[in-house]
Formats: sequence, structure tokens, C-alpha cells
Amino acid sequence: MLFCEKCNRLSNNSICAICGKKGLREVREDDFCYFLTLPAFKTSIFEANLKEKNIPVATFGQGYDFATKKSAEYNFFIPYKFFDRAKDLYNLLFE
Ligand SMILES: [Zn+2]
Repeated sequence: MLFCEKCNRLSNNSICAICGKKGLREVREDDFCYFLTLPAFKTSIFEANLKEKNIPVATFGQGYDFATKKSAEYNFFIPYKFFDRAKDLYNLLFE
């Protein structure tokens, strides 16, 4: 799996589908990679559960919800080596 350092996105080919960067490098275990985007109300639940399992997580808000005066949704970034565990956790919580 390849990785774009600019977007923190995983990619199947050597050109990033988001920013067009070429010559992407192989992803490393500790790279924080884009994992998913969740609506605000799910963000705190998932974030708390990741931390409970000692999975490092970084979230960045996007959009704006006038009702809550906070971001409408959040992008989650997780080190690549924790992806499988994070996916299991997500399925457990939301599926
Ligand atoms: Zn990119």
C-alpha cells in the first residue's frame, strides 16, 4: 500500500487521487493515515473507544454545524498498523 505524505491518504497506485502527487512512497507502520469521516455525534464515541484500546487517533473537523457551533463532521487519522483493530472496533460500535 502506498501513502501520500501531503494528504495522509493511502493509495493503490503511485499517483495520489486527491492531490495528484506522483511517486508516492510505501506506507510505514507509524504513518497517520486517513481512516474515515464521521458525523460529529459519532466522533466522540469512536474517539473515546479508540483511546480506551490505546489506539492513537487524530481528528480534524470540517464543515460547520450552526446548531452545535462545532464542526459538522470529523476526519479520523490513525497509524497504519492500527487499521485492522480500528476497523473491528468501528464495526462493533456502529454496524
Ligand atoms: Zn495527496
